[in-house]
Amino acid sequence: MTAHLIDGAAVARDLKSSLAVRRHDGVGLATILVGDDYGSKAYEARLRRLAGELGVPYFPQVLPATATQSELSTVVSGLNAREDVSGILLLRPLPRHIDEAALFRVIAPEKDIEAVHPENAGLLALGVPRFVPSTAASVFQLLDTWLDEAGEDRADFYHHAQIVVVGRSNNVGKPCVCLGYARQAAVASVDEWASRTGALQRHTRRADVLIVAAGRAGLITAEHVKPGAIVLDVGINPVTDERGRVRMTGDVDFSSVAEVARAITPVPGGVGPVTDVWLLRNTVLAAEAPRLEEVS
Ligand code: NAD
Repeated sequence: MTAHLIDGAAVARDLKSSLAVRRHDGVGLATILVGDDYGSKAYEARLRRLAGELGVPYFPQVLPATATQSELSTVVSGLNAREDVSGILLLRPLPRHIDEAALFRVIAPEKDIEAVHPENAGLLALGVPRFVPSTAASVFQLLDTWLDEAGEDRADFYHHAQIVVVGRSNNVGKPCVCLGYARQAAVASVDEWASRTGALQRHTRRADVLIVAAGRAGLITAEHVKPGAIVLDVGINPVTDERGRVRMTGDVDFSSVAEVARAITPVPGGVGPVTDVWLLRNTVLAAEAPRLEEVS
């Protein structure tokens, strides 16, 4: 392996210690889990542990998969009204009969720590976010930290860099594009049409920074990567090995890409740990001052 390994656990530890001194009255995280999705339950368990470590009160709401739209709206409205809850996270996927976008609009914008309410998504797109969604924030925190460690002048790097984001979801891909714009970088984004039309490699090979959030194990191999690029792998995909054990893997074929990239995040241990802490950070910020932040 020739690439430098970007250590998400170390960055998460630093972010955690900066939060420990920022505790504030009225801080509280509420999550809403509907049904028993495996990934959501695992995420909830991690947040519960982290909130405990940081001394942030945690209020998990668990509803059956049969819960109705109006029952869920009532739960969200109840959390909006609570003074001990500063941040609300709706765990996804939601059951098919639930209108997700309608539910996002019920969350009070000042408690909407993942910026899913249209007001907060719009502020992010305008470059004046109230909250930066945790996954995209984590990607850029890792990138900024690594650039500092590598002795790069961040502003100069971003002014010259071509960033390519693979995946265009509202919760990961698009916020990554917004954070790239906020750094005055040239940003391109592709989705699965690029793969279907055979154009994926042409786009990804132009990237100085390649951010991959497609949810397809091993999608990106060495042939997709420009030598010397920085590769950030957001994907989390369960794969079963020959012994029948399930493990998590990213969207990037780590062993081949690590031979050509300049730096790379592993899965697990890259973007994920920072994302979790960032969500708690937004929960603390929401209690401190529900004001518009500078892009961080
Ligand atoms: P999503 O399914 O909502 O969106 C996936 C995007 O990738 C879509 O825009 C789709 O068009 C695109 N895509 C799919 N296949 C493609 C292909 N072959 N070529 C190019 N583009 C393709 O998923 P999401 O919520 O954005 O999550 C993406 C991945 O990131 C998943 O594996 C998810 O588990 C993971 N994730 C990780 C974290 C973390 O903290 N590490 C957080 C959130 C999501």
